[in-house]
Amino acid sequence: MNKNTIIEELKKEISDITNDPALEYVGEVVKISDGVAIVSGLSKAKYSEMLEFTDMDGQKIFGLALNLEEDSVGAIILGNDLRLREGSKVRSTGRILSIPVSEELIGRVVNGLGEIKDGKGPIEESKSKFYPLEKIAPGVITRQGVSVPLHTGIKAIDAMIPIGRGQRELIIGDRQTGKTAIAIDTIIHQGKEKNIPICIYVAIGQKESKVAQIVEKLKKMGAMDYTIVVSASASDPASLQYLAPFTGCAIAEFFMDQGKDALIVYDDLSKHAWAYRQISLLLKRPPGREAYPGDVFYLHSRLLERAGRLSKEYGGGSITALPVIETQAGDISAYIPTNVISITDGQIFLESDLFNSGLRPAINVGLSVSRVGSSAQTKAMKKVAGRMKLDLAQFRSLAAFAQFGSDLDPATKKQLELGSRLTELLKQLQYEDQSFNEIAAIIFAAANGLLNEIPVADIRKYEKKFLAFLKERHPKVLETIFETADLSDETQAKLREIVADFNTNYWNK
Ligand code: ATP
Ligand code: MG
Repeated sequence: MNKNTIIEELKKEISDITNDPALEYVGEVVKISDGVAIVSGLSKAKYSEMLEFTDMDGQKIFGLALNLEEDSVGAIILGNDLRLREGSKVRSTGRILSIPVSEELIGRVVNGLGEIKDGKGPIEESKSKFYPLEKIAPGVITRQGVSVPLHTGIKAIDAMIPIGRGQRELIIGDRQTGKTAIAIDTIIHQGKEKNIPICIYVAIGQKESKVAQIVEKLKKMGAMDYTIVVSASASDPASLQYLAPFTGCAIAEFFMDQGKDALIVYDDLSKHAWAYRQISLLLKRPPGREAYPGDVFYLHSRLLERAGRLSKEYGGGSITALPVIETQAGDISAYIPTNVISITDGQIFLESDLFNSGLRPAINVGLSVSRVGSSAQTKAMKKVAGRMKLDLAQFRSLAAFAQFGSDLDPATKKQLELGSRLTELLKQLQYEDQSFNEIAAIIFAAANGLLNEIPVADIRKYEKKFLAFLKERHPKVLETIFETADLSDETQAKLREIVADFNTNYWNK
């Protein structure tokens, strides 16, 4: 055989091998460390595709392809990466990562991959549907505007920063300012609503003990009857922390697709961004601002974009999202906070100073907004709370001046009296959520100056007594507000009468 024929033969052999379609789907681990594997040979792998690793004992471990490079694929391992070695076999599955979801998940605690972790046995997979973790958000045509309120049971929010079903409202503040408290109170309050949304609490990078406490509390308050907890704790690998919000969102979509309302809390997305940064650096993606990868904005936008309200033809379901962001020293202009502020439809801004001065929930009313929620607010609340934000803003600027001078004109004095009472009224303890009709009644009284005779220190006691009185003696008024969601002239007159009667005959008697 001459030289040329040999070369031709060899070339043919090689091309036969490389054309073998099966080979494009089988590869080998080249490098593995910290839950991230570099794999060679998977020339047909797709972004976000599930990869099947085979460990030392022939067991399967799943991974997720995240980096597609010319001659290798970077993947995160969704299991115990210590069982994999260089040379372990990998196969691409052609499937994108999905989780089984069903009604049975309600009341359960699952991990970042949707696997049951409360030790009470698995759910029946035959009854489940598979939902992809990543999905293109519903388009404009399939959506409708926000018009149904999502009451939080927290006076300051329901009155001044109203949230609607399908809205994305950010809860932002330093550590220990009551962010989680607002989210949990909102979930607990849903049990008192007419149409209870399915609630999903996604805990990302929190301590296991903290999450366990939250689950206990939700159980005690009866909220686990309609709640699912997704928890990827600080001790879980970064890959699970990165996936947890998407798992939660897939579960929420399952309920939305049935025409139901869902409420999802991401607590918190700062830690989610950290997990993503960790993965990206391990995958050797170029670090950008604050060492986050360039697509961290896209990460959060494609997650939050999936919240919304579908139009009637598409079932009318909704996902309301309450992402949480932790700031450092109140800096809302840092990278991740500005990103998420610009993605959401408003924010509830919590401040350490307010929290420490005893104003709890520590909501900074001036910096908090809700861009779409007011179209969902009940008429009753609109009528009583319309002027309140303004009154409180005026009060704050006047109060700063009033500290210096003692001679105040009567108009200023009045404004100060009203403002200090409204401020006091907005204080609310944890787990003391209120229905919108009660909130509307008491704010109506305060905003109209009917409480100006009551000493500021007594306002909260007054509120409790008055609402108890209203419930006992005039339940019809509360019912009417609840049913009509409005405060008619007739009801307003009646309320004035009741307050006057209470002030003279019952209060302090
Ligand atoms: P972290 O940054 O640690 O996640 P956080 O901002 O989520 O903190 P929480 O854990 O909700 O804050 O609350 C901090 C503390 O303040 C808790 O001990 C909680 O019980 C208390 N707290 C929260 N809200 C209120 C409130 N309205 N009234 C009284 N105490 C409150
Ligand atoms: Mg918290």
